[in-house]
This record gives sequence, C-alpha cells and structure tokens, in this order.
Amino acid sequence: MFENLSDRLGGVFDRLTKQGALSEDDVRTALREVRVALLEADVSLPVARNFIKAVEKKATGAAVTKSVTPGQQVVKIVHDELIAVLKGDDEEPGTLRIDNAPAPILMVGLQGSGKTTTTAKLAKRLKERDRKKVLMASLDVNRPAAMEQLEILGKQIGVDTLPIVKGEDPVAIAKRAKTQASLGGYDVYMLDTAGRLHIDQDLIAQAAAVRDTVSPRETLLVVDGLTGQDAVNVAEEFDDKIGVSGVVLTRMDGDGRGGAALSMRAVTGKPIKFVGLGEKMDALETFEPDRVAGRILG
Ligand code: GDP
Repeated sequence: MFENLSDRLGGVFDRLTKQGALSEDDVRTALREVRVALLEADVSLPVARNFIKAVEKKATGAAVTKSVTPGQQVVKIVHDELIAVLKGDDEEPGTLRIDNAPAPILMVGLQGSGKTTTTAKLAKRLKERDRKKVLMASLDVNRPAAMEQLEILGKQIGVDTLPIVKGEDPVAIAKRAKTQASLGGYDVYMLDTAGRLHIDQDLIAQAAAVRDTVSPRETLLVVDGLTGQDAVNVAEEFDDKIGVSGVVLTRMDGDGRGGAALSMRAVTGKPIKFVGLGEKMDALETFEPDRVAGRILG
C-alpha cells in the first residue's frame, strides 16, 4: 500500500549522505517526498503546499543539514509541524462547554455522515464519563426512520429521548426539548437535526431556525472523515451559514489516512473534538493530534 514516509526519506538521505553534507536543495528533494505522502493521505493541495513551506523554513537550518541523521530530523520537524497545525490553539480536545444546565448541543451534518450514531455515542460518553443527565431529540421530521433510530439507540445506551409527536415541526420539537430538559433536571439536551444528501437552502434555514430557538452552547458538525476535500467544503459551508463550534470526524476506523483532519483544521480553523472509530456505541474517542499525525505520515 503506502510506503512509509520515514523509509522513503531514509532512501533519499542514504543517497545524499554519500555526497557529504546536505545542501538546501537536498532538503527540498526530501520535502517533495513529504508532499507526495501528504497528498496520498488525502491532504488537499493548497494545504500540503503551505505545510511544506512552513516545514522548509525550519528544515533548511544548519542544525538539520549538518546533522548526522538529517532524514530523522526532517521527519521529526514534519511530525511536530503536523501536530502544531492539527492542534492549533484549541482548548483540550474533547472539551465541551456544557455548564449552565440544561446546555443545548446542536448536531449538524449531511445524511449518512454518522450524525445520529455520533449523537448517541456522545450522549453515552457524557452520561458515563461526565456523569451528565442527557436528553436526546431527533428533529428529522421528514425521515421517521431516523427519529426511531435515535429512540432505539437511546434505549440501548440508557439515555432518554424526547417522545416523538407526529406532525410537529423542528422548531416546535426543539422548544419542547428545551422545556422538558429544564423541567426534568437534565444537564444537557442534544438536538439531532435533519440531514440531507446535499447542503440546500431548506436544510440550512431549518438548522438556523433551531439554532435561533435554543442558542446552542455547542454546534457540532459531523463529517465523514473518508471524504477528504468534500468534508472540508461541507464544513466551510455549514460554518458560514450556521456557525460551527467543533467538528467530529467519523469513519476514522476506515482505511483512509486521515488527511481530511489536517485540511479541515488548516482551512476552517475549527477544532476537531472527537473521532468516530466504528459503528458501536463506544467507538467515539477524543481527537488526538499525535495519533492522527502518525497516521498521515504512514
Ligand atoms: P446519519 O444519516 O448522518 O445520521 O448517519 P447514521 O448515524 O445513521 O450513520 C450511517 C452509518 O454509518 C451507520 O451504519 C453507522 O453505523 C455508520 N457509522 C457512523 N459512524 C461511524 C464510524 O465512526 N465508523 C464506521 N465504520 N461507521 C460509522
């Protein structure tokens, strides 16, 4: 499959060391390999370019070129830079602003991204790790099956769902969830908004109306981590139209290399809070920049 970046750079530097000290050109040759590795990991071209520029500045210093292990030095610089971009100046990954009970969390994303599954996984995490009392409500009025899916997951994980009332619109459901959360002493209520296959006016207008009704403490965008550049486009659009406080990348258990995480962070500036690692209710983890960096490097 993918050639490991360290091996690949090792090869380049093996050839170079025979010629004596490394020149800046030699480092550039190595960085071309890094660029290929990034593109193979599905990092978008402009993001890969900027990234290489940043690394080049650091890697052309005397400490690297005169080092006895220049290949390893370059790999380390690349690794550190990846973590710096992935982490940004975010608060601790996985942190949610859910003080002031009941705190609303709005879940948004395209249909099939894993939104409903992630809503339930996160509810389970909040219940078990943070000892929060959580209420979930589905606003997907056009897809009764999606509403039932959340109800079934709720029963499975022991988290309450708002009873389904036929014919109610999403804003009315959101209001009912808010009332129920206050009266019932819930710490958090999670609103699973409708998903569509594409972003359209209706979807955005509906999510915006719900946002204006509950003023969410967190608006989490769920995106399929295997969709690369598409995931980034989706995030930009949702952020522009609705405002997103954090991202959950799903399907990180797939065989993608995780480049979407780097592009996502570099382009949108939004913190990646969690990653989905499977279909099971426990398969949600705090986003860890160093793990993803290792994966991107191969
Ligand atoms: P929604 O339409 O966005 O609400 O998507 P669903 O939550 O219904 O998920 C669609 C499918 O993706 C389901 O079969 C989920 O089990 C699956 N899924 C969700 N998250 C993950 C993940 O992190 N990894 C894997 N492998 N499958 C996932």
